[in-house]
Amino acid sequence: MRTIIAEVIINRVSKRLNKTFSYIVPEKFASVKAGTRCLVSFAGKHEEGIILSITDADPDQFDYKLQYILDVMDTEPWFTEQMLLLAYWIAAYYMCPLIEALRLFLIDKVGIQREYTYEILWDNIPAGSEFSSLIDHSVKSLHEKDAELIFGGHLKECLDQSYLIRRELLSSVHAAPVERWIEFVSTPKESDLIRSSKQKLLWGLLKTEKAIPVRNLKEQGISDAVVRAYCNKGFAKVIYKAKDTYSLITDSNTRGNEKNPTEEQFNAINEISKLIDKSSYEGVLLKGVTGSGKTEVYLQCAKHALEKGGSALILVPEISLTNQLTSYFASVFGDDVVFMHSKLSKGEKYNNRQRIVNGESRIIIGSRSALFLPFKNLKLIVVDEEYDSSYKQGESPRYNGRDVAKMMAKISNCPIVLGAATPSIATYYAALSGKIRLIELKHRVFNTPLPKILIYDMRGDYSNSGRLISMPLRELLEKTLENKRKAILLLNKRGFASTLICSSCGYVFKCPNCDVSFVYHKEENLLKCHYCGTTSIPPYKCPKCGNRKIRYLGWGTELIEKELKEDFPQARSQRFDLDSTSRKNSAQRILNDFKNDKIDILFGTQMVAKGHDIPNVNTVGILSADSILNMPTYLAAEQTFNLITQCAGRAGRGKERGEVILQTYNPEHYVIETAARQDYEKFYEQEVEFRKMLGYPPFLKLLKITCFNKDYNTAVNQANTIYRFLCEANKKLKAKVSFTEPFPEPIKRVRNLYFISILIKGSNFVDLKNLMRNSVIFKENDIIIDVDPI
Ligand code: ADP
Ligand code: ZN
Repeated sequence: MRTIIAEVIINRVSKRLNKTFSYIVPEKFASVKAGTRCLVSFAGKHEEGIILSITDADPDQFDYKLQYILDVMDTEPWFTEQMLLLAYWIAAYYMCPLIEALRLFLIDKVGIQREYTYEILWDNIPAGSEFSSLIDHSVKSLHEKDAELIFGGHLKECLDQSYLIRRELLSSVHAAPVERWIEFVSTPKESDLIRSSKQKLLWGLLKTEKAIPVRNLKEQGISDAVVRAYCNKGFAKVIYKAKDTYSLITDSNTRGNEKNPTEEQFNAINEISKLIDKSSYEGVLLKGVTGSGKTEVYLQCAKHALEKGGSALILVPEISLTNQLTSYFASVFGDDVVFMHSKLSKGEKYNNRQRIVNGESRIIIGSRSALFLPFKNLKLIVVDEEYDSSYKQGESPRYNGRDVAKMMAKISNCPIVLGAATPSIATYYAALSGKIRLIELKHRVFNTPLPKILIYDMRGDYSNSGRLISMPLRELLEKTLENKRKAILLLNKRGFASTLICSSCGYVFKCPNCDVSFVYHKEENLLKCHYCGTTSIPPYKCPKCGNRKIRYLGWGTELIEKELKEDFPQARSQRFDLDSTSRKNSAQRILNDFKNDKIDILFGTQMVAKGHDIPNVNTVGILSADSILNMPTYLAAEQTFNLITQCAGRAGRGKERGEVILQTYNPEHYVIETAARQDYEKFYEQEVEFRKMLGYPPFLKLLKITCFNKDYNTAVNQANTIYRFLCEANKKLKAKVSFTEPFPEPIKRVRNLYFISILIKGSNFVDLKNLMRNSVIFKENDIIIDVDPI
């Protein structure tokens, strides 16, 4: 006899479970499709699973007894075919367990919990029943154990009678907060309602609306008791629906009128629209100088995708900072736009996702997590600021959103537009070698020249007594404030002082869990570790020698605050970094204040450099251009060039030319020189030479393997094992790889773990990855594998 069999992956991250298991699909779920989440019994426990495929087979051919799927959790598969394909690719390319890749697509990592809370639905419990006397009316929900104690053997009965809801199960099915609605069942006769004017009122509402949130009835004076009485007569019933928490980020100041495209914009829109019509994959680099109006190109192309009956995905690096793009899109497309990013609540995510499923929203704007949605007929993907390192996820799966987006475009047969003023070296290389198409916007919309950038050599800056803001910058700020213009200052480090040191014995205050010194945050008067988040009260004496003279060295954004207060007491200045924007929407508020002339000087970390388009910003000060240049990554030069261009690009976007002062200790460095001249081509030529010489991407690919352990020697030994594995592997590989000896990470201890790495270079890793997959070393140990590390 043939039966429907489902291949199910258990939603638990465990090396042992990185495979599928077969289950019989019972008759009542016969129409279930691949991609559906389900409930199965596994090793004696109820587990959530994801059905990866459905086949017809004879259950007797298996050498073990197949179990049945207990329940299905979705009416429509959670995973579309494209989503499953993308998950398979992520797991294979980034070498993570398949379930980890699949989890990227889920809103609740695990829908089904083994512990439940029970919500008590008092309205459903008949007055005077034995259950109503069991517990206090003020109780709304109970933990599993308490519920078992109180309801005992009646627990199941109470669930069947809808006196209780299993909250966890409910939230996994609906995944969103629910609220009570009253729904029409049958038409009452006038005599049925004769004695209650409130019930008549309710009938009047239900006649037209059919279903109403109970919450809304309160305003009309219809109480819970009325609702209950009405339902008890059988004319209506109470149902639970996901709460509507659909939310837009809007900025009331902008009203979107589409613009008349410039000639360059027009050509770009035209070319991309033609690619949309072709419905096939093609990569495009839209290289447009800052202020050239890339946003308008994205918008018009998205509009074209919509007109062709499709949807469009716009990825931005940090959505809370791209106010202007999001609000512009929202003002033009209204409800057709939906947002997806990590700061949304689960309910908001669920509801926004539901809008996409229902086809109500066809333009999706979001950070990298927006890639994992059930798009309908995707016709365009845009990756704005494609070089941005925030597209890379720091934890497993360590994917790069830009590259996953490319794969999604391939799966969806649509073009992908990578936008940037300063493309990553890899992307520009691909464009120049014809792998992707190059479209350029060479002029700013208002033809304002790019800002004038002046290099200030900090090496001779003795007269300024170690201040962050140099004399010329101070003078420029004075002029800016006099002319009622605004300024942005960038310093790439938070806090007030980056090192505390005892001036007597030289003791340095370090994080107890990491191999880094504490950063002093003056506003909170705390020492903070920027790696693990540990905080500590600043000491008044040295714990080693007892001396009370403790010196604060180094600098951070809080130090600018102090200097500005001293130099410009009348100016309204505001810090803009992770510390000052930790609350929801606070970044938004600060940017709006800056836009509305309530702030004169905005200063902070690289957050100040992101694509804001704020009028009247004429001055930009980059306080230490070198801070990123010294970072231990092959991308340091590229990231420095990009940050300088981005930040400078905030100045003079209107009709007046902006002025930028670039403070540096390396004025002759090719990155600083070319960035100051805004000469991307020259920078590219130099950088691509270095990459070629040193064997870095785009010429060779990178893969980093990191071992970690509480014990330093254990981590080293493990790394040595891998080193030997690689030596052996290389003998078998067609495409040979080269690799370093094991080395401690620049910060070799974080959160009490030691990190020892090996960096591998090669033209491709296909064979190597296969060897790694089949090796017990990687099966049995927790090892970090970072494909395309940054
Ligand atoms: P980019 O992202 O390339 O730096 P933006 O998209 O932010 O540039 O555009 C820069 C400014 O030019 C914005 O204020 C935008 O509203 C304006 N703009 C863009 N295109 C046009 C146009 N065709 N006509 C008028 N203003 C435009
Ligand atoms: Zn720490």
